[in-house]
Parts: sequence; C-alpha cells; structure tokens
Amino acid sequence: MIEARSAFGSDFSRDGGKLHWYGVNLEDLARRYGTPLYVYASDEVRRRIKLLKNALGVIPRFHLMYAVKANNNVEILKLVASEGVRFDCANLNEAALAMKVGAPYMISGIFYTKEELETALRLGATVNLDDPAAWDLVKGLLSEGVPRPKRLFIRLNPGWGRGAFSLILGGEGSKFGMKPDDARIVAREIGDMGIEFGVHAMVGSGIFDPSHFVRLASFLLDFALDVGAAAIDFGGGFGVPYKPDEAELDVRAIGDGIASLPNIEKVEVYAEPGRYILASAGVLLCKICSIKRTDPPIVGLDGGMNVLMRPALYKAYHEIVNVTRPMSDLIPTTIVGRICESTDEFGRNRPFPSASKAGDIVAILHAGAYGYVMSSNYNSTAKPAEALIEEGSVRLIRPREEPMCDIVKSFP
Ligand code: PLP
Repeated sequence: MIEARSAFGSDFSRDGGKLHWYGVNLEDLARRYGTPLYVYASDEVRRRIKLLKNALGVIPRFHLMYAVKANNNVEILKLVASEGVRFDCANLNEAALAMKVGAPYMISGIFYTKEELETALRLGATVNLDDPAAWDLVKGLLSEGVPRPKRLFIRLNPGWGRGAFSLILGGEGSKFGMKPDDARIVAREIGDMGIEFGVHAMVGSGIFDPSHFVRLASFLLDFALDVGAAAIDFGGGFGVPYKPDEAELDVRAIGDGIASLPNIEKVEVYAEPGRYILASAGVLLCKICSIKRTDPPIVGLDGGMNVLMRPALYKAYHEIVNVTRPMSDLIPTTIVGRICESTDEFGRNRPFPSASKAGDIVAILHAGAYGYVMSSNYNSTAKPAEALIEEGSVRLIRPREEPMCDIVKSFP
C-alpha cells in the first residue's frame, strides 16, 4: 500500500489501485450507498478544529464558533459541538439546529423581520444586529415587554472588503453590516439601556493573508474599547487550499498577531470559520455516466451543479480524482455534470486517466463545506446522500432523496 498524506492534509492512499480515504475504500462506499454521495471524515473535522484551537487559543478569552451554513448535517454539528465549539447561525432555522444538538449559538442574520427578532429574543438568543433598523425593531419589542437580551452584537462594515471570487462581504456597496458612525449610535443606545454588547465584522471569505485577520481584529478592538463593547468577533473567511500548489493559511500567525494587540485581554474574542473546519473533511463521490470521445474528451458525471454548486457559481476549483483507476496516463479532460446548463462544469483540461470508463467512481475533493448545503433540486433532480467515516466505520447520516416520489410529493 502506498501511504500518502496529500498536500491537502487529508489522508489518502492507493491500495490495489483503489483510492482509500481515512482507511475506507471509496469505491466500495459508492457501490454500497450509491452516487452522488458526500462522504465526511470525523478525524479530519477534529484535526482542523484542533489546529484552530491551538493557533487561536493563545488569544486571551478566545472562543471558537463554527459557521453552520458551511455544513448543517446534524451529525456533523454534533461532532463539532462535542469539541466544545459554539455555533454561528445565519437565521432561526440554523439556531434550531444548534438547539437540537445543545450548542450555544449566536444568530448573525441580515434584514431580520420583527417576528424573527421577537422569536430570537424570547429564546434568549444573542443576535448580531446588521442594521440600525434591526436595533429599532428590538427597541420596539422591548417596549412591548419582550424579554431583554443578555447580550447583543453589532455588525460593522469597516469600509473595506477582501475575499476569493465574489466572496467579498465588506466595503462600499456591501449589503452586510453598518457604517461605523451608525454603529456608534446603536452602541451608545444599547449601552445606555445596560445591555452588554459586542462588535462583529466579516469582510470576505477564502483569505490567506494572516495580517488581514489581525487588521480586522485590531479595528474591532479599537472600536470596542471606544464604545465600551465587551467582545469582538472577527468572523470567518479563513482560506483553504483547494489547489495542490496552494499553501495552508498560517493560523498561528493570526493567533500570535491578535494576542499581541495591546489591551486585547479587555474583551472576549470570537471567530466563526466554516470552510476551514469542514472543506477538507468532505469528498463528493460521483459515477461516470459516459465519456464523449471528443478532443479533449468530456467525462459526464451523475452529479453536477445540482449537487456541488461552487464551480458553476464562482468557477471554484476542486481537485478531481478517478477513484477506480490509478491516476496514470493522464490526458487533458473536461469534467461535467448532466444538468441542462452550460455552467454545469467541474473542470476543463484536467489531467485525468485516459483509460477512464463509464461506471468508474470519481472523487471531488474538498467538498465538505458549502457542498450539500448549496445543492438543489434543479432539473428536478434528487438531493444526494451523506455518509460519515468515524473510527474506520461508515454510517449514512442523510438518506438520498427519492427522485420522483419526493418531487411529486412536494405538490399538494
Ligand atoms: N460568519 C458569517 C457572518 C458569514 O457570513 C460566513 C460566510 O459567509 C461565515 C461566518 C463563514 O465563512 P467561512 O466559511 O468562509 O469561514
């Protein structure tokens, strides 16, 4: 057996030509549960959390949260919560998932309705206010006798943004967060009412420069000390190497940089990555339906943008491996799904075995974050199944949708 810890940090090996991941034969898995199939490795989730905790744990009063939006499977959430990680939730539905697994959580949504805020306050949730209008709604609810929150957060747009593809959430014209001047007014009013609060900002995703996170935390710290906030939250956005030649983000430099900010011990510090924890912990298995012998050949998989949206949405790169055959005699190949949409493409000119055949199993790597959660029923397709590798054994953690039945049943 050839053992290899790939450049991606996930355990892959070839045994008799067949690809194993965390000790499990991926082809066997695909045959057992069918394709398309998301497979996650609990060891990789724990390893990534440990990396973050070791690196960021040097920051005094630091707490790690996980952005549920990256992967919301309840078994994954239980796993993350068992590591003592809190949850960052985009809305009340994600908060319900956090409650289901008993994890402390914050709701960081935008354009809240009055009803949502009332529910959140009655649940005793910490809400991140994205807009002065949200604070106005909260004030109105408090005057109607809705319970006061123990803590609120205020989301700032610091005036700059950064991120891979279009994953930029801050700066001019961004829909996220409020201007510092507006935030100052909201902070004063919240403080005057004796409610504890923190300040939050996240300006983009897929960022590899540690100094970005230190700069953002420093901005938030200055702001917090100025307005009397008890906590700062510098969001997620931690970059993950999807390509073999990309280096890992230096999370230690982030921890050391933030830990050395003067007065950092005066506030609690939160981060809420999603991708960093889950991306490398998941692979998507698909089957080759057939191959068009064009030049270059076009390999058609049984899962496309309906199953993994990122390449169609952002032209995001995912490494693609033929699980069934050794990766030798590679020729430039186009790899696509079978959705009626020209953007339904996983990669062009990818080195892929020339001997590939219909029925071969293909793994799309780094699919653990923003994979299943962004899948759809487009072209009236059924959503895939999800399985989890835990201590060498595998179990199904979300069944496959039944193609026609579930779709037809969704109509009255
Ligand atoms: N927090 C908030 C408020 C977000 O909007 C996002 C992603 O969009 C995240 C955390 C997680 O980001 P990432 O998965 O890039 O770490």
